[in-house]
Amino acid sequence: MANWKMYKTIKEAKNFLQDFIPLIQGINDREIGIAPTFVCLESMSKELKNTNIKLGAQNAFYETKGAYTGEISPVMLKDLDVEYVIIGHSERRKYFHETDEIINRKIKACMNEKLKVIFCIGETIEERQSNKTFNVLKNQIEKGLEGVKDADSLVLAYEPVWAIGTGVVASEEQIEEAHSFIRNKLEEIFSEKADSVRILYGGSVTPENIYSIMKLNNVDGVLVGGASLDPVKFSKIVKYDIER
Ligand code: PEP
Repeated sequence: MANWKMYKTIKEAKNFLQDFIPLIQGINDREIGIAPTFVCLESMSKELKNTNIKLGAQNAFYETKGAYTGEISPVMLKDLDVEYVIIGHSERRKYFHETDEIINRKIKACMNEKLKVIFCIGETIEERQSNKTFNVLKNQIEKGLEGVKDADSLVLAYEPVWAIGTGVVASEEQIEEAHSFIRNKLEEIFSEKADSVRILYGGSVTPENIYSIMKLNNVDGVLVGGASLDPVKFSKIVKYDIER
């Protein structure tokens, strides 16, 4: 899944798709998704019809409608044929002060509208250095998923904050350890249904490192920021095991 963050105008998004769609033609054995900014959703929704690319949004509010200036509701996203919503990205936690409680309400509101949620969790460098990583992940999962029943609509994304946009990738051991911890937590919550929840890794994924990340245990996909803005780079990530 591509997270375009606050990049690309409607025209730039269109140009991206013109280059990208031919590059991933015929690939149907994996899911490809792009989460552009809200303003690009309507045009991209039309352009992605009849393609193998899913549409995602980067955020949603937890109310259906009302006096919430500047917010967008899950109903509005559903109306645009959005399929995935990224919730709890560390940039939202950091710059927009989203708490675990807010994230939990957003996850439930999206699932109520039958949107699939990519729920992001991850520790800061300070938390890792003070050996709090697993405690942080445990808290984020337990609070974020409180009262959430629908494992089928859930995707987890492990994104160590220190690896996002920094060019520093978590080591294979760090990724496997975190993903296995997350899988076990999901099993506590959803029992056998936990196996169907995909766990993505995110943090400085590139065409160069994708292959070694995808072969790790419990890594079911990736969430890609910077490298997803370039159609050639993102297509190489999508085709990580086809064109090596
Ligand atoms: C992200 O924003 O989710 C992300 C993983 O960014 P980047 O790939 O640029 O590290």
